[in-house]
Amino acid sequence: MALGEFDLIAKFFKRPVRRAALGVGDDCALLQVTPGMQLAVSSDMLVEGRHFLSTVDPARLGHKSLAVNLSDLGACGARPLAFTLALSLPKADPAFLEGFARGLLALADEHGIELVGGDTTAGPLNICITVFGEVPAGQALLRSGARAGDDLWVSHPVGGGIGDARLALEVFRGQVSLEGRDFDAARRAMELPTPRVALGQALRGLAHSAIDLSDGLLGDLGHVLRASGVGVRIDADALPRSPVLASQPRALQLECGLSGGDDYELLFTAPPARRGEVLAAAQALGVGVARIGELQGEPGVRLVDGEGRPLQGDFPSFDHFLSA
Ligand code: ADP
Ligand code: MG
Repeated sequence: MALGEFDLIAKFFKRPVRRAALGVGDDCALLQVTPGMQLAVSSDMLVEGRHFLSTVDPARLGHKSLAVNLSDLGACGARPLAFTLALSLPKADPAFLEGFARGLLALADEHGIELVGGDTTAGPLNICITVFGEVPAGQALLRSGARAGDDLWVSHPVGGGIGDARLALEVFRGQVSLEGRDFDAARRAMELPTPRVALGQALRGLAHSAIDLSDGLLGDLGHVLRASGVGVRIDADALPRSPVLASQPRALQLECGLSGGDDYELLFTAPPARRGEVLAAAQALGVGVARIGELQGEPGVRLVDGEGRPLQGDFPSFDHFLSA
């Protein structure tokens, strides 16, 4: 039986709300914001063929669609409250919708947040989520707070690193080949990122600045440097690497780690005096953090190896309009 727009919403996306004042079903949703808090809002759109492959498992796609949005709340140190989903899809395919909703809502449940509204239309597969979070007034982590002398940190899975999503992409592009288990691990990094929501909140009052890694470390770091008016020295050998990436040629390791994209880890800066607290906060949450450089007054990026020797190389960041 064909599924109409409203049946589809009712069947897959409407659930009773407990936290929001009003959820799916009226012209607006209503959210209660705690007094003294600021509302943090962020949207991310995922387009088939550009942000994901048409062959991706629908549940993983549902997970990733919300994860990339939660990652932005994490980068600001905000606590997630709720989200909306604007969905354009070619046909109301129950198998796709069931998997997509399952992956999406499982991650929502993990973070205690609710889908409170959205829009549904026929068209090319396109997923746009808006997340709402709250943060104590004036305490959001911003790109503009980095200071000369700060340590540069990047989060990573314990025992893992950054750059694996890019490695998986290179396999899909036919540029790299990996054995089955290694490919599965890299592919998980690409398709099932873990947004660093709790770490972001723990870094409030500790970090001077933060950004989440979506377009590659050097490109995203560039936003922080420009917003803060500082430069940086990065020790490329200190980049955290998974065993799979670490077994690849060094040039590929650096390319994946420095300009990979799709990492959804936090890149943040904090004063050296607070190193112990940063490590303790990350450890308490079961997240790895690696100190990979130092912010400097002189603008620009100075990339060095473990011995302090300058590294040459062109590490472009990902730009949707500049990339083919
Ligand atoms: P309107 O015409 O007033 O914009 P719609 O008919 O588009 O409302 O949507 C009906 C209700 O279903 C609204 O509460 C809307 O927020 C919700 N909704 C629509 N699409 C989705 C979706 N993909 N996920 C969750 N809620 C949705
Ligand atoms: Mg509508």
